[in-house]
Amino acid sequence: MEKKVCIDCGETIKGRSDKKFCNDICRNSYNNKLNSDTTNYVRNINNILRKNRRILEENLKGETTTISKQKLIDKGFNFKYYTNQIVTKNNHTYVYCYEFGYLLLEKEMVLIVKRKEK
Ligand SMILES: [Zn+2]
Repeated sequence: MEKKVCIDCGETIKGRSDKKFCNDICRNSYNNKLNSDTTNYVRNINNILRKNRRILEENLKGETTTISKQKLIDKGFNFKYYTNQIVTKNNHTYVYCYEFGYLLLEKEMVLIVKRKEK
């Protein structure tokens, strides 16, 4: 008979071959770890988005601000994460982190904007 081990603690499981855990304690412990990984993943992305938003907010002076892409990266901006994109009639793609957004310009420059309240 094939040996099965508990996917939580790694102990050999006796009995039915379809069992994944030694007991309910291992099952709960495994599920708690899974849930906390999911929570951490969501929390990390939320933190990146909030940080991106804060960096845009801090660097926006007036209606719009032009800044180099590198300056935003130096401040910790992560271009991989955003909340939504808006494509204008002129085919410009504005990338938003909540109500603050940016448009990539030529020569590695970035235009920072804020969404107008309705
Ligand atoms: Zn176990």
